[in-house]
Amino acid sequence: MKKLWLRISLTFFLLLLGVLIAIGFFLVNLMKDTYIDMTREQLLENAQLMMKAIDITELYNDPPVLQEKISHFAHPIQPRFTIISENGTVLADSEDDPRQMDNHLNRPEVKGILQDGIQQGESIRFSETLDFKMMYVTVPLYKGNERIGIVRTAIALDMIEKSTKQLWFSLFIIIGVTLILSGMVSIRLAKGITRPIEEVVDVARRLTSKDYESRVTVKATGEIGQLSHAINVLASSLQKQMKEIQDHQQQLTSILSNMVSGVMLVNDAGIIQLINPAMEELIGQSQEELIGQLHTQIGEHFGLSERISYCIQSAEYIHEEIDINRSNERVFDAHFAPFIGENNRFKGVIIILHEITEIRRLEKVRSEFVANVSHELKTPITSVKGFSETLLDGAAEDEELRQSFLKIIHEESDRLHRLINDILNLSKIEQHKIPLQIETIDVTNLIYDTVETLQEEMTKKAITISLPGQESVLIEGEKDRVRQIILNLISNGITYTPKNGKISVKVIEHDHDIELIVSDTGIGIPEKEIPRVFERFYRVDKARTRHSGGTGLGLAIVKHLVESHHGKIKVDSIEGVGTTFIVTLPKKQP
Ligand code: ADP
Repeated sequence: MKKLWLRISLTFFLLLLGVLIAIGFFLVNLMKDTYIDMTREQLLENAQLMMKAIDITELYNDPPVLQEKISHFAHPIQPRFTIISENGTVLADSEDDPRQMDNHLNRPEVKGILQDGIQQGESIRFSETLDFKMMYVTVPLYKGNERIGIVRTAIALDMIEKSTKQLWFSLFIIIGVTLILSGMVSIRLAKGITRPIEEVVDVARRLTSKDYESRVTVKATGEIGQLSHAINVLASSLQKQMKEIQDHQQQLTSILSNMVSGVMLVNDAGIIQLINPAMEELIGQSQEELIGQLHTQIGEHFGLSERISYCIQSAEYIHEEIDINRSNERVFDAHFAPFIGENNRFKGVIIILHEITEIRRLEKVRSEFVANVSHELKTPITSVKGFSETLLDGAAEDEELRQSFLKIIHEESDRLHRLINDILNLSKIEQHKIPLQIETIDVTNLIYDTVETLQEEMTKKAITISLPGQESVLIEGEKDRVRQIILNLISNGITYTPKNGKISVKVIEHDHDIELIVSDTGIGIPEKEIPRVFERFYRVDKARTRHSGGTGLGLAIVKHLVESHHGKIKVDSIEGVGTTFIVTLPKKQP
């Protein structure tokens, strides 16, 4: 039986039922005994009375007369009287014909007196003749000192049967009502006791199923009250601890999900326990696929699994650079750190992959840049060195040679100067060292100014230039940088346009930006080279452009300058027909 209250009330109920039935039996027996005692007294008294009323000793030898006298006592509610002789013969009977009756020697109430000589016999038995229980009481009949027979009085005990039934019936009703009332009371009481216990049990059960908000609300005193209080304190402390754990977990999860580095945790059995989104991206497999799996399940593992196995076996820290070559090469700084738990127990390996592809790329670019710079510097320096040595070796004596050599030295040092200037400019812009000095610039004005400084070169090559109208177009930016953009583009136009060519500079205004379009009728750029012209030191035709005095840095500088103004640059070119550069710059907002 599950319910405690039911057990308590049922036990109480059964106990009460037992006690009530026992009381019932006791009462019925008491009543029976009392009734039988009273009946016995009454029968004895009646026997005495009858003996006084009739002189039995006189009539003893005349049974018909005795019978006649005795028959007067025959009455439904009176006891029955019987006179029995010493040999057991019925001499007279108040209710029956004595001649018809058996010898009574063997009747227990008669036997006791005749055989054992007791002064009072008694028997209760079922009377076949009358069909109910009878009580018989016998006393000896004396003549002087000599016993001459027995007087028996008897009465039906049907009354006692009826009363017992009546009593049982009453008791049944009393017991029933008592049981119903006491059952109700005991259920109430038992529930009152067990309700707090049940609630405590329920709260404990809910706590185990992670419902940390549940509390015991029932008010109880004593031990149960203390238990409820203890459970509530336990629940609050659990709730607080769980909250802390959840907060920590959330912090950890958000740190892990926002980390650029890939993180993975593998336990000492080699099972993957944790993977962050960066790691999912790196190894190209999702958390769902991998968590709970062996680390050897990492598909394209690029040696990761071997290193994890080694770390699990040796519990040693490994730090290595790993190359992954999937669609494009990526380089990772990989750490395999043993994860040590309490009691210095080895619990697994933490793997951290940090992508260093960009760092390695920049390092490569830088070293290429250094190589390029050295290479670019080498040519003018070699020629300055060579020609100056030749001059020193005596060529200076020859006026014509001296002039020509000095001119070359001058040109080469000019080139060196330009080169160094460009390199310095570029590196400053690239390092974002100089912040923009924003001012309002009239682009038209700036174009006119710049073209003026280039006039000489254009005249030399008989290049005609068409310029935009005089009306001002305002943008926001740094004047010198925008001037540099215009200068580099127009001077490239002059450089790469043969004699008698044409250059056109246009400014188109849009709502939010302007387009500066510089086009020429020059040699153009082969289609496959177009994407590379903005690279540093990149020249389409190295021999020719170096001869033209170009450093290969002009467009790289233009690109950086345009980007520092949050603008865009685009180039359209057809080899042998001409080139158009379109620069978009943000307009000054009213
Ligand atoms: P350079 O100093 O050599 O001109 P740039 O960076 O300015 O270097 O230009 C890179 C290369 O792009 C040039 O070497 C040249 O081959 C090509 N180029 C640039 N502008 C033009 C143009 N207007 N017409 C044809 N080719 C050009």
